[in-house]
Parts: sequence; structure tokens; C-alpha cells
Amino acid sequence: MLNVDTFRNRLLILFAGLAFILGLVITLYIGHKASAQMTKASAQTLNLVAKSISTTLANSLTEREREMILLSDSPFFMATDFKNPQLQLKLDQVKSSYKYYAWLGIANVDGVVEVAADGMLEGADVSARPWFKEGLQRVYLGDVHEAILLAKKLKAINPNEPMRFIDFATPVYDAKTHKIRGVLAAHADWSWASQVLQSALPKDAAQQGIEVFIVNGKGEILYPYKSIGQVQLPDQKTLAQGTFIDDWHEGQNYVTTDVPVVSNTQMSMGWHVIVRQPVSAALADVRAMQKQIGLIGLIVTLLMLVVTYRLANRFSRHIENLAKSAYAVEKGQDEVHFDAQSSIREIKWLSQSLNSMTTTLLTQKHQLVEANATLEQKVQERTLALKEANSELEKLAHHDGLTGLYNRRAFNDYLSYLFGQFQRNDLAYAVLLMDVDFFKKVNDSFGHEIGDHVLQSVASLLATAVRSTDFVARFGGEEFIVLLPATTLDGAVLLAEKIRQSIENESIIQNHQITASIGVSWALASDQDANEAIRRADQCLYTAKKQGRNQVVSEV
Ligand code: GH3
Ligand code: MG
Ligand code: MG
Repeated sequence: MLNVDTFRNRLLILFAGLAFILGLVITLYIGHKASAQMTKASAQTLNLVAKSISTTLANSLTEREREMILLSDSPFFMATDFKNPQLQLKLDQVKSSYKYYAWLGIANVDGVVEVAADGMLEGADVSARPWFKEGLQRVYLGDVHEAILLAKKLKAINPNEPMRFIDFATPVYDAKTHKIRGVLAAHADWSWASQVLQSALPKDAAQQGIEVFIVNGKGEILYPYKSIGQVQLPDQKTLAQGTFIDDWHEGQNYVTTDVPVVSNTQMSMGWHVIVRQPVSAALADVRAMQKQIGLIGLIVTLLMLVVTYRLANRFSRHIENLAKSAYAVEKGQDEVHFDAQSSIREIKWLSQSLNSMTTTLLTQKHQLVEANATLEQKVQERTLALKEANSELEKLAHHDGLTGLYNRRAFNDYLSYLFGQFQRNDLAYAVLLMDVDFFKKVNDSFGHEIGDHVLQSVASLLATAVRSTDFVARFGGEEFIVLLPATTLDGAVLLAEKIRQSIENESIIQNHQITASIGVSWALASDQDANEAIRRADQCLYTAKKQGRNQVVSEV
């Protein structure tokens, strides 16, 4: 099924439809014009045929009549006795000179045939015949009638039809008295008419459906015989038009022409020659031509279709390309180009606009991406700073600001943990509580800053002296505490001594020795809480101070 949604197919349908309608209109118009032309041409041809037949008939009638008049007026005919064998000889000659003379003879004033060619009907009484009665008065021309007396005696020229005659008669006068002495008459065989027609009609008349009728003054068909009583003529009024189209009461139209036979005779027969041809036959060529034109129209339409298809392709290709490029833009492609090479100005403009629009869009997109990336980096940096600040805070929360050692809070947590371990697993730990000796003096003599420096140095010495599993914290002021997991009291005393000596030996400030006293305790199974061991260490420290300072005292 053709998809009518596309630009291409709509163009195709439009152009093809136009081509088809144009083809149809041209074909119909030419057909119509040609039909009218051909009908006219046919009417003209038929008229010519009718005129030709009419003229031939008229000439023939005139000729026959003149022949009769010449004979009757000749001195020989006027003077000689009807019984003169020369007269019979003359009649024989005249009859044989013209094929269609069926009978030629002279009747006396009483209507008895005196002499005739071939002696035919001599002695017969013809007084009742119209030709005789008329012939006594004038030159007479008798209309077509069937043979009466002669029918049996003569051989018909056309065996398929009854013998019919037309009559010519003239009075024969006496040369001296100028009185009438007889009537010269001739019967001409009517088959003469068909002879005239055959010579006048075109050869392919039958094929073209052309028919000829000879009609007398009363509107009766004289020729052809087969049409008598079969064919009904158009009415008088229609016939009077001369050339016309009529259906002849037969259900199909005929181009018809009616021409009167105007003979140069003394009496007029009042005949008409009517020629007709079915319109369908007259237009047969037009129909064939229409078919040809239709076929050509079809071919042209098909060619137009091909051309149209290509044109539609050319037009729509640009639009389709634009649509494809726009789709690529929609799908996020960066390297999109709208083809602006079209020869159609609007499409060129559209392409250019789309190109610059896309460029703007892409630039903005890139700027957005860059801004996003910068933002991301900033967020990362901030997050890192925040993390650092957090860990700093964390450190601050658990460490002492001056020495960097764990603070009292961290110490308490760790002590609870160790005490819990000790209670569950019997893992004993030792406690060193250390206090810098005469520290007030340091502050007083050297100032707080130096005092701080001393505290920092002592802390540093402490931290280096212990193992990594040991826990060192600032207990407060110039007091420090060390928790030693899984350490015996002796081991703890040894370590305490080592620490005491390292402080004593270190020249932390010039010309002034710094010393410290240390109390050592050990976690006992009997301890009720974690602080008991601390208290015991504090008592030992107190003892060390009392005993002169710069020494280690441990519980027993
Ligand atoms: P003893 O030998 O009996 O311990 O005498 P002492 O002077 O060391 O003891 P005392 O408790 O009388 O004095 C401790 C002094 O330590 C008092 C206080 O000003 C000082 N001190 C406490 N904390 C700090 C500190 O963070 N920095 C400084 N510079 N001095 C401190
Ligand atoms: Mg103290
Ligand atoms: Mg002190």
C-alpha cells in the first residue's frame, strides 16, 4: 500500500493524477472533435454519392425520353405505314441498342399494338394502359410498376425480383396532316436502377454500411426491392432537411442525406435518392483513432509517471536528507551537516538555518558539558576537602592538639575495650602513668611556649619508645599515660625505665635537664572497674614523686 504520509508519494500522486486527467481530457476532447469532423465528412461523402446517383438517374431518364422523342419525330416514323417491315427493323435496332429496353412498340389510336420490336405483343389491346392514354396527349414518363402482359413472355434481367418497368411514351403524328396516328412506347427494365447505383457507389460502400434508397414522389421505396415494406423512411419533415442524423425507427442513428432526382424531362418523376450510413460505421475510424490516442495517452501517462517519480525523488530527497540529519541531531550525533546544495531556494535557506541552529545547539551543548565537568571537579574537590576536614575533626576529637597523642577521651574508650578483653580472655595489661617533674618551674623560667615545646618533645620520645601495639595518650597537663596490652609487670617496668632514661638523657632545653616520674601498675582479676589499675599507677607515681622524682615506682 502506498504510504500517502510521505512528501514523495504525495507529489507522485499529484503529478500522476494530473497527467492522467490531462491525458483523459485530451483524449476525450480530440475524440469529440474528431467525431464531429468525421460525422460531417461522412455526411459530405454520402451527399456526393447521392448527388452522383441522382444525376446519373436523371441523365438516363432524360436520355431515354429524348431518344423516344427523336424517334417519334423522325420523318420516317411520321410518314411510314406501321406495317412497313423497315419500321419493325428500326424498332429492333433501337431495342437492341439499349440493354434495359424490355419492350418497344407502336400502338394505333385505338390502342392496338401495330408493330413492336421482335414482334412482341403485336395485336394486343393496350388501350387501358396509362402510358397509352397519356401518350395520346403528350410525352409521358410512367413510374415504376410491375410487368403485366410481358411478365410471362420475357426473361427477367434480375431473376431474384419481379419484373418492373418504367414507361416512356410519345405521340406519333402524321407528317402531312399532323394528326395523331399512334403512340410510340418503351418499357425499360427497372433493374437499370441497380446498374446506375453500382456504378455510382464507392466500391467499399457495403463494408462502410452505406445504403442507397430510391423513393418515388409518394414516399414509397422503389429500390432496393428487399427494403420495400421492411424499411420505414424518416418522416417528410426530417427528409426535407437534406442532410441529418436520424434513427430511421431502428434503434441506431444513421447519417442520412436526401437528394431529389431532377431530370430534364417533360414530366418529373418526383424521385428522391436517399443515402444513409450508420453513425457507428461513419465513426469507426474515429473510434480506432480514439483507441490509439487513448493508448498514446496511457503511454504518455506512464512516461509522466516515471518522470514524476524522478522529479518527486529530486524534490523529496532534500527534505528527506534534512529529516535524516535532524534525526541524527535528535539522536545526539555531533558531526551533523545539513546539505545546502539544493537548487530550490527555500530548501537552501532551510538547510542553512538548520546548520546554524545545529551549530548553536552543539556549542551550547558543549558548554553545558564543560560546565558540568567543572562542576563535577569542584564537587569532588569540595568533597575531598570536606573529607579532610572531617578526618581532621575526627583526629581533633580523639587526639591532643598540642602533642598529637591520643587524648583523654580516646584513652577512656581504649581502656574500656582493654578491660573488657581482660575480663573475657584474661589478657592482662600494664599501665604507665608519667608526670614531668617540676614542670611549673619550666613554665615559670622559660615561658609557656618552651613549656609546650618540652611537652611535645616528651610526647615524641614516648611515642618512639613504645611498640606499635602500645597506646600512648596525654592524660592531662604534663601527665602522660601508656597502656601496654599483653605485657607483664616486669616488662612494663623495663619499658618505664627506658623511657625515664631517654627523657633524662635528652637535652630538650639548653642548660636545664627535664626528668619525669613514672608509676607502673598491672590489671588485676580483682579489679572492679578499669580505673582501679589507673588509681594504683597514680599511687605509685605519687610515691615516685615523694621519693625524690626521676624514678619508676611499680606496685608489688
Ligand atoms: P611536681 O614535680 O610535683 O610535679 O611539680 P610540678 O611543678 O611539675 O607540678 P605542678 O602540678 O605544681 O605544676 C604543673 C604545672 O604544669 C602547672 C601548669 O601551669 C603547668 N601546665 C599544665 N599544662 C600545661 C601546658 O599545657 N603547657 C604548659 N606550658 N604548662 C602546663
Ligand atoms: Mg602534675
Ligand atoms: Mg609535675
